[in-house]
Amino acid sequence: MEIEVKSKDENEIVFIVRDAEVPFINAIRRIAMMEVPKIAIEDVNIVQNDSAMFNEVLAHRLGLTPLISNLDGIEGMEMANECDCEEYCPKCSVSFTLSKTGPGIIYSKDLVSTDSTIKPVYDTIPLLKLKEDQNIELEVVAKIGLGKDHAKWIPTTVCAYKQYPKITFNEDAEVNYELADVCPRNILKSDKRSKKLKVQNIEDCSMCKACVRADENDYINIGFEEKNFIFRIETDGSLPPEEVLSKACDVLSDKADKFITFSKN
Ligand SMILES: [Zn+2]
Repeated sequence: MEIEVKSKDENEIVFIVRDAEVPFINAIRRIAMMEVPKIAIEDVNIVQNDSAMFNEVLAHRLGLTPLISNLDGIEGMEMANECDCEEYCPKCSVSFTLSKTGPGIIYSKDLVSTDSTIKPVYDTIPLLKLKEDQNIELEVVAKIGLGKDHAKWIPTTVCAYKQYPKITFNEDAEVNYELADVCPRNILKSDKRSKKLKVQNIEDCSMCKACVRADENDYINIGFEEKNFIFRIETDGSLPPEEVLSKACDVLSDKADKFITFSKN
C-alpha cells in the first residue's frame, strides 16, 4: 500500500491511497467520524435568557459550536462516561460561562472558558441576539465524547473517499470533441492537432458520466481503479485532519490488538 498527499491545509487533507481494499479504507473512514474523541458542550444551565431564542434552540447551538480539542488541550482528560466522578469534574470536563446584556449579537468568543487551552475554534459564530436591556446568563459544561453518540462529537465535516477515476478512449470510434464542453469539471480538453481528447486533472472527475451520456459514438469510457482511492478529510477546526487520521488508526490498531490478545489466550 502506498499513500501520497495531494493537498493539505489547516482543516483539510486530501491523499491518494494505492493498492488498498474497500473494507479497510471504509473502516478508517467510519472510525475517523465515529470513534475519534473530541470535546463539545454537553450540559447547559440557563440562568436567564431574555432573548427571543428558545432555551432548547440555544442549547443545541452551543452543542454544535466547535471547540478546540487538539491533543495538547484534551491530553490526560477522561471520557465523561469513564470518569469516576458523579456528574462532572475537572478531569473529564471544562466549564464555560456567558453573561451579557443587550443590545447586540452574542458570539462564540463571549463564552469564557475555565481552561485557557480549550475555547471555541472560531470567535465569530453568532449564538443569539439581544435587544436593549435583555440579559443572557448561562453556564455550560463541555465533555469529551464520540461521534457515534452524538453528531456534535464528530470531528469531521467531510470524511469520504472515492475510487480513483479511469478515463479511456475507444481509438476505433470517431473523436467527439464536443465532450470537452459537456464535462462540468473541465477535465476533458479537445486537442484538434493530435485529433484526440486529452484528460487533465483526472482526480477532479466525479464520475458523473455526463460525457458518456452525450457520447453517441461510444468514444469515451469512464471507470475506476478498483484498489486506488482518493481520500478527503475536512474537520470543523476542532482537530487538525492528520490528527483525526492518526487517532483513527490508533483506534483500529487497538481493536486489532484485542483480537491478537484473544487469539493468544
Ligand atoms: Zn469526572
